[in-house]
Amino acid sequence: MTRDEVLAHAYKLFESDMGLCACGQPWEGYELVRRLLDLAPYYEHPDRVTAAIGNDGSAHLVLSMLTRAELIEHGGAVGGSWLTPKGAWYRDALRLIDSWEEFDDGRFTAPSPHEGTPCGDACWNDPPGTDSLRISEIEKRKERP
Ligand SMILES: [Zn+2]
Repeated sequence: MTRDEVLAHAYKLFESDMGLCACGQPWEGYELVRRLLDLAPYYEHPDRVTAAIGNDGSAHLVLSMLTRAELIEHGGAVGGSWLTPKGAWYRDALRLIDSWEEFDDGRFTAPSPHEGTPCGDACWNDPPGTDSLRISEIEKRKERP
């Protein structure tokens, strides 16, 4: 998957799949998602997951949101969740973003992946690569003839 396609998926995750508003400091939310994907599987250390989120109530809300976005799934309790293939793909993709502020600046001009058609297993089977996702470098690349 190209860097632009990876970025388009990252914007889609936060905006469409999770419904995050762009007001305030949305990157605080992006960073929490990245951190939580890195902490999976949660059954290995549920206390660290709760501590990263704040308390049991907010943990229940946030983990339910990640479940609704199909990033994690669980058996008996949401606090013991593990990553879905989509969640594992986003864990790897979000690790490549160097600057959340810069990422957020590109949010409103990014195309939607697949021209709005839903993602499928093919997306999560296509690794995001290892190149960092510096938005300014991508913009510079586009400006070159
Ligand atoms: Zn896709």
